This record gives sequence, structure tokens and C-alpha cells, in this order.
Amino acid sequence: STVLVTGANGYIAAHVIADLLSSGYRVVGTVRSQSSAEKVLSAHAVHNEQDQQNLSIQIVPDITTPGAFDKAVQADDITAVIHVASPFHLVVEDNERDLLIPAIQGTKTLLESAATNSNIKNVVITSSFASIVNIGEGLRPGYTYDETDWNPATFEDGKNSESGSFAYCTSKALAERAAWDFVRDRKDQISFTLSTICPPKIFGPAFSSPTRSESSSLGISMKDIYDLVGGVEKTVPQTQFWAWVDVRDVARAHVKALEVAGAAQQRFFITGGRYSYQEIVDVLRQSDRIPQNVKTEKLPLGTPGQGYAGEFVYNVNNEKSKTLLGLEYRSLEASVVDAAVQLVTLV
Ligand code: NDP
Repeated sequence: STVLVTGANGYIAAHVIADLLSSGYRVVGTVRSQSSAEKVLSAHAVHNEQDQQNLSIQIVPDITTPGAFDKAVQADDITAVIHVASPFHLVVEDNERDLLIPAIQGTKTLLESAATNSNIKNVVITSSFASIVNIGEGLRPGYTYDETDWNPATFEDGKNSESGSFAYCTSKALAERAAWDFVRDRKDQISFTLSTICPPKIFGPAFSSPTRSESSSLGISMKDIYDLVGGVEKTVPQTQFWAWVDVRDVARAHVKALEVAGAAQQRFFITGGRYSYQEIVDVLRQSDRIPQNVKTEKLPLGTPGQGYAGEFVYNVNNEKSKTLLGLEYRSLEASVVDAAVQLVTLV
């Protein structure tokens, strides 16, 4: 069967598409421009020629336009949709225009279009720990976050916040709420079930190793590791969100959510556990896959072995994803070292 994947050129979507193709699905991706379309097609073709025949791309220039996905959802016998496209920027000019509207309206537009095709049985949306965490509670010692928690921020909170990071988190929470509202309000008219995937900070390699010319336009996940191995960070950065997951495990969760009957109408917190940036630099320094000069000249030292997640900060619970989706999680070492190995060649 065929799966529609929105935002096909992104970091997560590339892994979702690769996982789908290697699991035997055909994929129709959407991107905003012809140049992105060409990049996506060639990235997957390089990986596996067979994949090229099973992947096509549609251009959807503006995901907030009513009917934007009407044509895409009719392509090639689509029976499922994975909606990944959403702005992921922590510094913006206008919270409403640049984060809230595209995230929320983009999700509603996608669902409206999905509702026009009764062959669509599953919709999976990439949400985030951003829609789980209550930022106002701070480090929240003694508390354990799981799928029952919701970021309580309102549209007004997000619109008026001085913090791009807060506004981003609000955009994800309200987009996910809009999706659950949609399937509740329209349950008699739609043929699909909804599942949402909520990952915290994602690490792990890019599907296609970044080139030197791309080093200035890395997404947030890769840039974090690049800034460590590239000597941009002179000291160990403050940890903002204390949970992480590997991008390949996130991709697997999306595909599992399509396949496992028990995933219908469920929300999943997809996390490998807690981390801190000190732990990441320690793990990189201990790895024999990281060049010696990077360890001595680039990586900040901090205080090795100190400042790891502990009793002073919330905990996280990934039991539901293990039990219902059968997910297994990579280690922090496997994740950050695999990303760093791609990036050390650029520095
Ligand atoms: P990327 O920036 O690599 O991908 C974002 C994708 O969304 C791109 O395809 C981008 O297209 C598209 N997009 C962004 N803004 C718009 C818009 N206004 N209209 C249409 N498309 C848009 O980020 P990731 O792959 O890391 O993130 C993808 C999703 O995962 C997002 O929903 C993000 O919120 C979520 N997420 C990410 C985490 C992480 O740590 N990486 C953690 C938790 C959730 P274009 O290139 O054209 O801008």
C-alpha cells in the first residue's frame, strides 16, 4: 500500500520514508519546492535504486491553503498519511505567522483533505514532547511525564511569548489538540484513525550525510552535535529539555503506529530516556570513532561525569511505546556518535 508523507525533505521524514520503503510500502512525499523534490528523490535513489520506483513527490507550496492536500491524498492508492511538516525554528520574527498558524492550520488542512478519501485508514502525526511538557513547572523534580500529560499553553500564551522556544512548544501542542478535536468532531464522516508520536529532543544521523555546503543550514538536531564537534560551543551547553530519542527509533514508531491495531486513537511518548549535554560530550569523548583532535581541540570538556539527569529533574516514561508498539530504543552513545561521525568530516 501507499503512504503519504508530508515534509518529505526534513530530517525525520527522510528516515520515515526510508523505513517505509524498506518495509515494502510505496511512498508519496510532499515538499514545498521543486528543488526539495529533486533532493529527496536523489537521496533515496542513491540509497537504493529499487526505492526510486516506489517513491514519488508532489509539491504543496502552502500547507495552510484550504484544499492544499486534496490532490496529494488522491495519488497512487494512498491508504495512510504521516504528517511531519511543521515549522521547527526556535527563533522567529512573528510567533503567530511563523509557528502557530502553519503548525495548527497545516494540520487541519491535512486532515480535511484526508477526510475526502475514504480509502485512508490511518493518519499518524508527528507531535512532540513539546505538547506534553508543562514548561511553567520547570524541572519538576519527582514528576514523571507520560502520554496523559498536556502542555497547557494557549494560543494567546504562544502568540505573546518572548521565547521562540515556548511559542514553538505551543504550536506543537495546539496542532496536536486540533487533530484530536478533528477526529472527535468528525468521527461519523471519516474513515481513518489517528495516532500521534511525541518525541523529545531527537539525535542521530541524517539519512544523507550532510555536505560541507549544508553545514550552515543544518536542522536543530544535527546542529546541536555539529556545534559540539565543530568547536562552536566553547562550554557545555545548558540542557533545556532533559529527554532524548534517536531519529531512527522515531521513524520506526511512525511505521509501527500504522501497522499495530492497538495504536489507533493513541498518543505515544517516544523517548530513549533522559540525558544532559555533559553526558553527550562525555560519550563522544569516550568513543573510539571520534578523532582525537576533535576530542582535544573542539569538544568542550565541562566536568566529566557530573550534571547528568538525576533527582533534580522530571523523569520520563516510555512503557506504552514498548508495550503497544513493541519499540526498542537505541543508546545515547549509538545515537550521538553516529551523528557526530557524519559531522566531524565537515569541521
Ligand atoms: P526539519 O526542519 O528537518 O523538517 C521540517 C519539515 O517541515 C521540512 O520538510 C519543512 O519544509 C517542513 N515545514 C516547516 N515549516 C513549514 C511550513 N510553514 N509549511 C510547510 N512545510 C513546512 O525538522 P525535523 O525533521 O527535525 O522536524 C520535523 C517534525 O518533527 C516537526 O513537526 C517537529 O516539530 C517535530 N519534532 C522534531 C524534533 C527534533 O528534535 N528534531 C523533536 C520533536 C518533534 P521546508 O524545508 O520547505 O521548510
